[in-house]
Amino acid sequence: MIVTCKQCFTKYYIGDEAIGKNGHKVKCTQCNYVWFQDYQKCEESDNDDKNTVANLPVVIQYVLPYWIKLVPVFFSALILITALFVFQGPVVSKFHFMNVFYNKIGLPVTEGLILNGIEVKKKKDNTVDINGFITNKSTLRRSTPNLIIKFLSVNKKSIAVKTAYISSSYLGKDDKIAFYKNIEMPLDAKFVSVSIANKYDMLSY
Ligand SMILES: [Zn+2]
Repeated sequence: MIVTCKQCFTKYYIGDEAIGKNGHKVKCTQCNYVWFQDYQKCEESDNDDKNTVANLPVVIQYVLPYWIKLVPVFFSALILITALFVFQGPVVSKFHFMNVFYNKIGLPVTEGLILNGIEVKKKKDNTVDINGFITNKSTLRRSTPNLIIKFLSVNKKSIAVKTAYISSSYLGKDDKIAFYKNIEMPLDAKFVSVSIANKYDMLSY
């Protein structure tokens, strides 16, 4: 087809595929004028014009904004993070080294960890003594979990939630450790509930 510069009226031969069905930005090499060339408005090249310049106008490539390239990266990362969160148990049982990763990001794996022998004693100074055992019933080594201590009212409504940190590194398969904590108790608390801090608790800290 033949494309005519809208400013200096220089005519160019150009392959139909260079403009494409959606048109294309072009630049006149004679006067540097830039315009958007529609496909439909291109003249037919059947009638050979004697004044036609044989070189093509520079077709300017449309450059996507740089951040467009980051969109798939962003969504891939989002999907990966969600999967790592949702499939924490299966991921760790397949790739043992991921245990370390989950501990690092504050989402320790607690599957198979159980609490037993829990004893709670209220003391005169408005604190409670809590002791018991944590046992690792999973087949994998687990890091020692934190405990969530909930104080409940007479109606079993939650009044306060506290975290108890247990200072020990890892529990091997069937390992059992004793813990003891003395925690300040809200005055109106009547019940105490102790549980292993799971990944959802860890996120809400
Ligand atoms: Zn021109």
